[in-house]
Amino acid sequence: MNVGSASSVSPPPPLGGGWVDVDLTALGSNYRTLSRLALPARCAATVKADAYGLGLAPVVTQLWAEGCRCFFVANSHEALALRELQATAEVYVFNGVGANDAAALARARLRPVLNSVEQVHLWRMQAALMGGVALPCALHLDTGMNRLGLGAEDWRALLASDGWRAGLDVKLLMTHLASAHRGEHDAHTARQVLAFAELREALPDVPTSIGNSAGTLLGAATRGDLVRPGIALYGANPFDARPHPMREVARVYGRVLQVRTVGAQGSVGYGGAFTAAPGARLATVGVGYADGYRRELGNRAQASVAGVRVPVVGHVSMDLLTLDVSAVPEAEVGPGARATLIGGEVPLEEVALAAHTIPYEMLTGLGPRLPRLYLGAGGEITEPSPLARR
Ligand SMILES: *Cc1c(COP(=O)(O)O)cnc(C)c1O
Repeated sequence: MNVGSASSVSPPPPLGGGWVDVDLTALGSNYRTLSRLALPARCAATVKADAYGLGLAPVVTQLWAEGCRCFFVANSHEALALRELQATAEVYVFNGVGANDAAALARARLRPVLNSVEQVHLWRMQAALMGGVALPCALHLDTGMNRLGLGAEDWRALLASDGWRAGLDVKLLMTHLASAHRGEHDAHTARQVLAFAELREALPDVPTSIGNSAGTLLGAATRGDLVRPGIALYGANPFDARPHPMREVARVYGRVLQVRTVGAQGSVGYGGAFTAAPGARLATVGVGYADGYRRELGNRAQASVAGVRVPVVGHVSMDLLTLDVSAVPEAEVGPGARATLIGGEVPLEEVALAAHTIPYEMLTGLGPRLPRLYLGAGGEITEPSPLARR
């Protein structure tokens, strides 16, 4: 189906459950904003975890149309899926390479981010197996995450070993910031930037990559030559507390299945975790924790119906949640009405906070039962991403 204009929706939203609207026009606009801000750095896109739960194929198709040629994913499974979509994209794999996927990565011209001396050796061995061609890769230097990457000692040892670069076409020197989300005056970020500047001196000819979304927005020092934003592309605020220029991309809706007026007994849901006042009107919505609308949101979050903010009452159950819609005019809410659960009047950041988590986890936790409906944008998009149906 051709998704041709900003108002088109395909396929029609389901009747009894929930769905996710993904605004590809806003995604494209966010990519352009980040690309412009990042200049003279190049702007790649991080599309791991099925493009943060929004669907790898439509997201990559849109970003490609915006001129994005470089993508980052977490593992070789995701990288191979991306290679199927784009034969010529530069694809980096954050988790690097293992003995079991080196051949597949090399054959598909994918670029592991080499995180350890062992991974460097594996990739060199793969190059030797393929007749000594230099295989493209990135090198990850750890400067303060202690998660992945070569530490300073590993790096020096590697540099000191004879001919270590043979068989490697090192395209990028990368580091990852632990606290860029805290904003511009973070001491840990400053230390990481300094440490990286020192470590990369050994290979001054190789382009660098530092910035995630927050690093990209903070300034030149936290960018490097190539930035690799993820969450900001998808419209969420990468900062704890700081304005940001991104447009909303994802919105989660649920259908109202039933509306009831409470009688004398107002206990709501499992365990009666909420007691509604007599005369209150309750709407039952076909979205629950199996869809990634987390159970913690019961009695904590709000939703929006017909533009009115309403509380989520009682426990969220697997397939259902309950809203107290007493404040919504009766004519506006009945079976089939649409409740906005995430986005619009109830920003993703607010819902994530109520669930004691972060926008990243809310988005990537949206379940496969919620169809992703794509709005706007050019390109032929026929199906939700196959990975969205894991
Ligand atoms: C996920 C990830 C990114 C993207 O981070 P955002 O905060 O979503 O922009 C960049 N670099 C690495 C190493 C990552 O793991």
